[in-house]
Amino acid sequence: MPRVYNFSPGPATLPEPVLERAREEMLDYRGRGLSVMEMSHRSPEFVEIAERAEADFRELLDVSDDYAVLFLQGGATLQFAMVPINLADEDSVVDYVHTGLWGTKAIAEARRLCRVNVAASSEEDNFNHVPPPETWRLSPGSAYVHITGNETIGGVEFHEYPNTGDTPLVADLSSTLMSRPLTVDRFGLIYASAQKNLGPAGITVVVAHKDLIGRARPNTPSMLDYGAHASADGSMLNTPSTYAWYLTGLVLQWLKEQGGVSAIAGVNERKASKLYAALDRSNFYRCPVAKRNRSWMNVAFTLADEALDEAFLSAAETHGLLNLKGHRSVGGMRASIYNAMPEEGVDALIDFMAAFEAEHR
Ligand SMILES: *Cc1c(COP(=O)(O)O)cnc(C)c1O
Repeated sequence: MPRVYNFSPGPATLPEPVLERAREEMLDYRGRGLSVMEMSHRSPEFVEIAERAEADFRELLDVSDDYAVLFLQGGATLQFAMVPINLADEDSVVDYVHTGLWGTKAIAEARRLCRVNVAASSEEDNFNHVPPPETWRLSPGSAYVHITGNETIGGVEFHEYPNTGDTPLVADLSSTLMSRPLTVDRFGLIYASAQKNLGPAGITVVVAHKDLIGRARPNTPSMLDYGAHASADGSMLNTPSTYAWYLTGLVLQWLKEQGGVSAIAGVNERKASKLYAALDRSNFYRCPVAKRNRSWMNVAFTLADEALDEAFLSAAETHGLLNLKGHRSVGGMRASIYNAMPEEGVDALIDFMAAFEAEHR
C-alpha cells in the first residue's frame, strides 16, 4: 500500500526520509551490529546521538548558552505540573492566558499547585481567537505568564508573542515549535511534546533559562525538578526514551537539510494560506477561527451541513487523506499540516474538497 497523507494532530506524520533512515539503521546502527533501541543510554554511540540532537536543536533555533535544553518524558502534560512546581510556590500567583482546551488542562493542573489568575480567556467565544495582549489583566508580582502558543485542537495560534517585561513568559509550543523562527530570549521557558512537529511520542523538550532552574520547591521529587535533570549529564537522570530521542534527532537533521526553520516557515505559510483561501472561497466549508489567529499547523473547519461529515471523512479516506476528523470535544474537521506534511498533501486535500463540494452542494 502506498503511504497516505496523514493529517493526524499527533502522533503525527513523520518525514519519509527519516523513516527510511531509521529502517536502514534498524538492525545494525552504522556497523555497530545492534539497534539504537538496544544500546545503553550511557554508551558512547548513544551519547553521541543525544548530543548531536541537542546541538542541532540549539542551532536550528539559535538557543544561547543562557538556556538549558532538556529531553524529558511525561509529555507536555507533565510540564503542566512541572512548571508551577519549579517556578512558583504554593502561594504564588501565576497568570494564564486561556485560548483553548490545552490551556484548560494547563490551568487545571496549575490550580492544584498555586494560585492561578486567568488573565484573559476566549472561552466565551468558543476559543476562536487570542485576546489581544492589551486586554490581559496580569497580576502584579506573578511568578510567570503562561500561554499556549498554538492550540492544537481549535487551530488558534499566536503569530506574535507578547512582551511580559520582567515576568518570565512560559509557553506550551507543542504543536508549533520548529515550524518557524523563534526568538528564544523572549521566553523564560518553553516546552513541547515531540509527537506533533519534532518526532515520535515519548520525548518532551524543555528549553529553560538557567535562572529559572534549580528553584524547585523543597521536597520536590528529583524526576520533577528541572535542576536535577539539568545537572544529571545531558538529561540522563534515569533511562531516557532513547529510541524517540534518536528519531527526534533524525527529524532535526532532516529539518536542517530542508534549509532550517526559516525555509520551512515559508513552506508552512504557503501550505496554510492556500488551505484557508480554499475554505474562504466556499460557503460549503467554514473556518471558525479569527483570521489573525489562524494556525499554520492545525486548520480547523466545518462543513455547512454537518450531516455530510461522515461522507466527507470516508470519501477522504478512499483518496488516501486520513485523520481529518476534528477533536471529539469540538467536532468538525481538522487538518494538521506540520513540517512533515508535504505541500502535495495539502494540494491533494484542496482538490478533494473542491470535488466533494461539487458533488454534494
Ligand atoms: C498534544 C499537546 C499536549 C499534550 O501532550 P502530551 O504529550 O499528550 O502530554 C499539550 N499541549 C499541546 C498544545 C498539545 O498539542
